Amino acid sequence: MDPVAVWNAIKKALTERIAQGFSYSNFVDTLTPLKVVENPNGTATLHLTTNHEQVATEWLDPKGHYYESFMQAAMTATLELYGQPTFMVPAVTFVAPQPTTLFEDQLDQTPQISEAPANSSIAADFVTQSILNPEFRFETFVSSDENREAYAVAQAIADNPGTQWNPLLIYGGVGLGKTHLMQSIGNKVLERNPNALVKFITTEDFINDFTEALRRGQKDTEAFKREYRSADLLLVDDVQFLAGKEKIQEEFFNTFNALTRANHQIVLTSDKLPKEIPGLELRLVTRFGQGYSANITKPDLPTRVAILRNKSDQEKLNIPNDVIDEIAAAVDTNVRDLEGVFNQVAGKLRFASKPVTVETARDILETMNFKRQRAITIPIIQETVAKFFGTTVIDLKGKKRNKEIVVPRQIAMYLSRELTQDSLPQIGRAFGGKDHTTVMHSTEKIDIAIENDAMLADQVQKIREELSN
Ligand code: ADP
Ligand code: MG
Repeated sequence: MDPVAVWNAIKKALTERIAQGFSYSNFVDTLTPLKVVENPNGTATLHLTTNHEQVATEWLDPKGHYYESFMQAAMTATLELYGQPTFMVPAVTFVAPQPTTLFEDQLDQTPQISEAPANSSIAADFVTQSILNPEFRFETFVSSDENREAYAVAQAIADNPGTQWNPLLIYGGVGLGKTHLMQSIGNKVLERNPNALVKFITTEDFINDFTEALRRGQKDTEAFKREYRSADLLLVDDVQFLAGKEKIQEEFFNTFNALTRANHQIVLTSDKLPKEIPGLELRLVTRFGQGYSANITKPDLPTRVAILRNKSDQEKLNIPNDVIDEIAAAVDTNVRDLEGVFNQVAGKLRFASKPVTVETARDILETMNFKRQRAITIPIIQETVAKFFGTTVIDLKGKKRNKEIVVPRQIAMYLSRELTQDSLPQIGRAFGGKDHTTVMHSTEKIDIAIENDAMLADQVQKIREELSN
């Protein structure tokens, strides 16, 4: 569930239960939705934040007016949104407003921050200047299940930097949108306060700057420190590259502490969890994990379609649906690759006079080495296994109990379990209407056999390879 959509619908339903005016504007309008946690038993919790301690206290009481009204409003809202009422409770967290806020509109005096030390630009001229990509914004980011949590918390931090969740760590594989999200925070903060000192750097920049400062001597080392520690928002990309660099890690640790102590926000990205980065000091592992860690995973097929559609619409290209489906099915690695193929197709559309068809897309995919993944289905598995063992699909589905049939049948069930999304009962039905316990028993047998019988393990592996060709 999308926390923003759910909250908006709940707010609407709450207008029936909470008087418009003081109560509503103080106790409802001041809340920011963060995420929906869906429990296995079908209930859910909507996490919200507020800057007012008293508001949080009111909301916390399960017998209180707000809590009760919320549960009822949530039933109405989820029924309306998803066609089915969900039992949902609120979890409101108080987030202390920053003593020195980044945003002028919230200040009743002139900002004390964002005034760079008078001579810093001269003293620290060797330090990498931060350049944000203006395209990396929340508005151009497609949110989906794979990144929803990271997206929600990044937005909450952009609205309220330095108050809670410090640092934010976004981690996940290459090309999945970590840098995009991180820079979205920077762009948003600058949009609201153009004077905020937002510093975006790669870990490599940090390493180079520090090494250069050390080479030049003490005055420049001081300048380096001043430059980095004056940031209101420090964005450091790809911290996995700190691995094994002790001296750099020490300086990073000091920078980190200076900024977080002053309630200045830090956002980090990494290709893995800090504790999985070999050669990262324990104290950094601990620090990096003390705020909020959000994982981004590979986009599934519907998400890939949505990302391509979005790009096509943004660039007003009108790429046909079947072309988009073709690309989305073939490129299952990451968003960067998806964009790479998209740009080729867009180029063809713009510069060749012919419209882009599925054929054109296939050619492009082939030159870029992406093959459409053939979906592996139970019938394909049955056929491949039967051929491999010199038996027939009819026998695999039949009731014969001799060893020459039973083992291939069990292997076919085992591979169906492993390589398709089908459930145990579905697999049972595809094998001549067998019970799901039979399927379970068969897969367990093969599991054990693979451990103890090298020849059988080898056969299973050969069939797998056959199937992936
Ligand atoms: P990472 O830093 O994780 O390696 P990037 O942030 O550089 O990945 O993303 C790679 C490319 O894919 C960028 O051009 C980015 O705009 C795009 N991208 C990634 N995820 C999304 C998304 N969810 N919606 C839109 N564009 C995305
Ligand atoms: Mg990146």
